[in-house]
Amino acid sequence: MSFRSSDELLLDSAKVTEASEAINLIRATHADLRIITIDELLSIVSEEHRKPLLAVFDLDPLVYDVRHTRIDIKEFDPGSLVAVDSQIYVHNGTERQLGKQYITPHFKDIFSDLTERMRADIGRVVLIQSGFRSPAYQAITFLQHLARTGSIDQTMRRVAPPNHSQHNNHTRLAVDLMRTDIGHADIDFDRSVEYHWLLANAAMLGISLSFPKDNGSNVDFEPWHWQQL
Ligand SMILES: [Zn+2]
Repeated sequence: MSFRSSDELLLDSAKVTEASEAINLIRATHADLRIITIDELLSIVSEEHRKPLLAVFDLDPLVYDVRHTRIDIKEFDPGSLVAVDSQIYVHNGTERQLGKQYITPHFKDIFSDLTERMRADIGRVVLIQSGFRSPAYQAITFLQHLARTGSIDQTMRRVAPPNHSQHNNHTRLAVDLMRTDIGHADIDFDRSVEYHWLLANAAMLGISLSFPKDNGSNVDFEPWHWQQL
């Protein structure tokens, strides 16, 4: 397999880790990182850390045998998105708050409907663990996952590169859902009553599970990831 230069740059784990740590510092102070534009992001990271970030934009999932579909995303308008704030979950018995998420007005309607029906049926609700991500934020997410795994192959099966993620698609948004009482990494979501309720009611709600088990895309099974139809 021949790697292009951008891929090679991302194989330098020291540089990837360094850029990831620098971005972590931004994360602490930038309230709306999830809707940051590429120009804004490039203006606040140093020249050196820009390189691995830009390299993420050049990644081709097919080189890694993963079929993330490239989305022709028109420029998003941050003003058209709806903020979802004050979402509380419980981790090890302690209440914690999720970071502010953004969704489209259409998805807000879907989520209100979902919440009302799920509460009525099973006495539970779910939270939006991750909503809209701008392509620039998607690059951050990819780079930080890469810093943790050290493997582009592994990262590619879990996080799409920018402009390939359904979280970047503001005309047909996908979100990650989580339970309220499990903690931030809801890895057993597929065994939950919430998940089974979603499976049974998805069509009525107008959402679908993007990456079921053994999906043909070579993307990991993601029981929490639902896209509007
Ligand atoms: Zn997702």
